[in-house]
Amino acid sequence: MINGYDVEVKLLAVTPEAEKLIEAAGRLCWDTQDKVGTVPDRIQEWIKVGHESMIEHACATFHIRASRVLTHELVRHRLASYSQRSQRYVRENEPRYIEPPEIKERGEPAHEQFEEAMKVCWEIYGDLLAKGVKPEIARYVLPNACETQIICTWNFREIRHIIKLRTSKRALPEIRAVASEIRRIAQKIAPQVFQDS
Ligand SMILES: Cc1cc2nc3c(=O)[nH]c(=O)nc-3n(C[C@H](O)[C@H](O)[C@H](O)COP(=O)(O)OP(=O)(O)OC[C@H]3O[C@@H](n4cnc5c(N)ncnc54)[C@H](O)[C@@H]3O)c2cc1C
Repeated sequence: MINGYDVEVKLLAVTPEAEKLIEAAGRLCWDTQDKVGTVPDRIQEWIKVGHESMIEHACATFHIRASRVLTHELVRHRLASYSQRSQRYVRENEPRYIEPPEIKERGEPAHEQFEEAMKVCWEIYGDLLAKGVKPEIARYVLPNACETQIICTWNFREIRHIIKLRTSKRALPEIRAVASEIRRIAQKIAPQVFQDS
């Protein structure tokens, strides 16, 4: 549960010794490899002046469980590789969906109305499958709230960009929850790159 959203973010993989690799890439430009690790905040100084290409050499892979509303927005970030649970090849037999806390906060009638809508969607989905409609077609009645899973690989520069855009108050609350968790993980794995994110 993140910020009231039943979503999950797990780190699957990260470039080994990412910060060392980034600093080595940056120091190649000035032939100062002998100084790797000697200047604290070296990477932050490069980032501040816009010399950011070296942080593209490191990347991280995340497993995210969230709604299709969220993944529709997330995949707009193009400097990436994505693999998402298919609604063509996998039957969504179980009604699994993300209910925004903003609906529950409106009181029991709003929550019940939301639950009723989910129930109807999955009932009709099941009926269509039973009539022989393929999952890729029956899924047209499934809601945006439908839970999905996606594996995302981004380089560190793109992760900084996603954190900036998607933790903003203007961003969708669910993606803000996911982006804030990505930031927490990123700051742990590479503090020199993400300390100002
Ligand atoms: C608050 C908010 C509201 C939004 N509302 C809408 C909306 O109403 N409708 C809608 O369609 N989208 C909306 N978006 C999505 C937004 O327009 C972007 O598509 C999305 O945030 C991806 O970010 P990005 O374009 O910076 O690119 P990324 O794909 O993450 O790329 C990173 C950076 O690489 C560079 N780049 C990548 N591709 C190109 C390119 N082809 N040409 C030049 N530079 C490139 C840019 O500098 C870009 O910032 C919204 C996003 C936010 C955060």
